[in-house]
Parts: sequence; structure tokens; C-alpha cells
Amino acid sequence: MSQDRPAMPPTYSLVVPIYNEEAVIPILLRRLDALLDSLDAPGEAIFVDDGSEDTSAIVIEGKARADRRYRLVKLSRNFGHQIAITAGLDHAAGRAVVVMDADLQDPPEVVHALIARWKEGYDVVCAERASRRGESRFKLVTADLFYRLTGALAEAPIPRNAGDFRLIDRKALDCFLAMPERDRFVRGMFAWIGFRQGTVTFDRPPRAAGKSKYSLRRMIGLAANGLVSFSDAPLRLALWGGAVVSGLALGYGLVVIGRWASGDPSLARGWSSTIVVVAGLGGANMLMTGVIGLYVGRIHAEVKRRPLYIVERAVGFEDPPASVRRPARTSESGSPRPGRGRARWS
Ligand code: UDP
Ligand code: MG
Repeated sequence: MSQDRPAMPPTYSLVVPIYNEEAVIPILLRRLDALLDSLDAPGEAIFVDDGSEDTSAIVIEGKARADRRYRLVKLSRNFGHQIAITAGLDHAAGRAVVVMDADLQDPPEVVHALIARWKEGYDVVCAERASRRGESRFKLVTADLFYRLTGALAEAPIPRNAGDFRLIDRKALDCFLAMPERDRFVRGMFAWIGFRQGTVTFDRPPRAAGKSKYSLRRMIGLAANGLVSFSDAPLRLALWGGAVVSGLALGYGLVVIGRWASGDPSLARGWSSTIVVVAGLGGANMLMTGVIGLYVGRIHAEVKRRPLYIVERAVGFEDPPASVRRPARTSESGSPRPGRGRARWS
């Protein structure tokens, strides 16, 4: 396929978030070259550099300048995987957009299968992992627990064993882009959108090179995010937990009064029982305040209405044709600009 930028918007966009992936980028670029060459219509690859501290952004910028199918969106710092994906989706112009990890755990070849499903008429096609090789037992167990929990609690079922590797039709993508929340749990949002959702399965290989960027802390963060932003079950849990604890305290109080009335004041006098009750209630209270705090924190983040991310530099973009109105898609820009800062920019 020619290296010239297609005059028409590309049919396919690949969105790849990158955070310190210099070890894997050479192999990734080779595989994406092959993929873009083999597609049945023009495609673009949008790399979102999520504040890498290594040479990732430099290498990709070189590629974006040499090959017009490649673009770089460089964020001003590390905003996290889910925001990086959102930034890439904001910049994608394709009719079908594929989100994939940089580490080749989402093999580019599977994109053909995703496209085949899309052509059958599916609007969101998830790539489900039939197997996961080369990942620690701990990761597998915690991931399984996470998928079960979010699957059971979320309002719209989030596909099990599917990360963010998926194809999204423009129609569904426009709905996603119109969702204003700061708190992005991308896979949950795509499940929530609805439309025709399909899946393909694939065997997930180990990382091609480099190390996982998801530390335990980040995994817990993602899980908490997924739970709190897609379910109010934790709030209900607090309510029920509070009700149970208060009920027990009331029951215990009645027992104490009953014993006292029947001439046995030993329980009523014992201060240890008081401490048990106070500590129990105090603990339950703190737990519930904590749960509410999680939600209040989210409300706080939403009302600040900050832009989701800041683009330091975008390379490889030209002004979009009038037919494609992407708010964040700009010409090559030298100056930083807040992403999807609709409140300020529209
Ligand atoms: N990533 C990112 N920002 C981050 C963390 C990760 O853009 O803060 C990217 C990373 O470069 C990779 C993808 O997200 O392309 C998935 O990360 P990783 O492979 O480390 O996660 P895992 O597969 O271990 O869950
Ligand atoms: Mg990975």
C-alpha cells in the first residue's frame, strides 16, 4: 500500500496507548506495518504516548514523520491507560476503530477477525481471551475475580476475559465520545452503550518485550474504578451492612435490658460490652463513610470539569476533511492543548 496519506479519512484506525514501551516498539511497528498493508481499506495507527520517560515518543515521532499512516499524540504526562485510550479514540478518524495494547499481547493479526465480525454488522466487537499465556498466577486469579465481580455488579454486562482490545464502529464510538465523565472505565462504557455487541476469541500471548505497567496498586485502582463507576452496589452494601450492624446492636441492647429487668444486671454493668458495641458501630460507620467517600470523591472529580488530558504535541495529523468533525483532532500542533476541554473550547 502506498505510504501517502489517504485523501479520504481512513476506514480503519488503530489506537495504541504507549507507556515506556521502547523495548517492544520495533517489533510492534513491524507487525503493524504488515497489518496496515494487509487491510482491505486505508488504515491509520494512532499512538498515544502516555508520558513515557524512555525513548518511546521519539521513536514513534520518527515513524509518524516517515510514514503518513502513523500518528503520535503525546500527552503532557502519564494520565493512565484508560485516559490514553480515550485520547486516542478522540483523535481517530476511521469508520471502525480498534483499541489494542502495545505489547503485542493483543496480536495485530486478530484485527482481521474483528473486522470480519464488524462487516457482519456488529457495532462493538470484543476480543475475548480464550487463554492467557505467560502471566503470573496472581494476575490470573485477581483478573478472574475482577471480571466476576464487575460482571455480577455492573448494570450492563461487561464481557469476561476481555480487556480493552476491541473494535468499535463509528456510531458506537460517537456515543462513547459524547460521554462526559472524567472517570473512564473504557470497557464498562462500551458495554453500557449497547448496540450489537459481538466477540471473537483469541489466545493471549505473553508480552513480546518489556514489563507490565500494571502494578498491584494500579490493578486495584482499575478494579475500584470499574466497580464504583458502573455499579451502586457498594453503596447498597453499605446500607445493608449498616442495617445489619444496627440490628445486632439493637438486639444486644434488648438482651441487656431484658437481663437487667429479670434481676441480672451483670451485662448492663460490664463496660467491656459497651466497648464491643461502640467499636463495632464505629467500625461499621467508618467503613460506610469510606464507601460514600469513594463516590463523593468521584463527584468532586466530575464537578471540577478539568480536561481529561493535555496534549503536548500531535504529529502526523492534517486538518480533517469537513466531513469528519473530531473535536480533538487537530493539525500538527506545537502548543499544548487540553483534550476534550469542551467546557472551555466549544
Ligand atoms: N499503558 C499506558 N499508560 C499507563 C499504563 C499502561 O498507556 O499508565 C499502556 C501500555 O503501554 C500498554 C497497555 O497500556 O500498551 C497495557 O499495559 P500493560 O501491558 O502493562 O498491562 P497488562 O497487559 O500487564 O495488564
Ligand atoms: Mg500487557
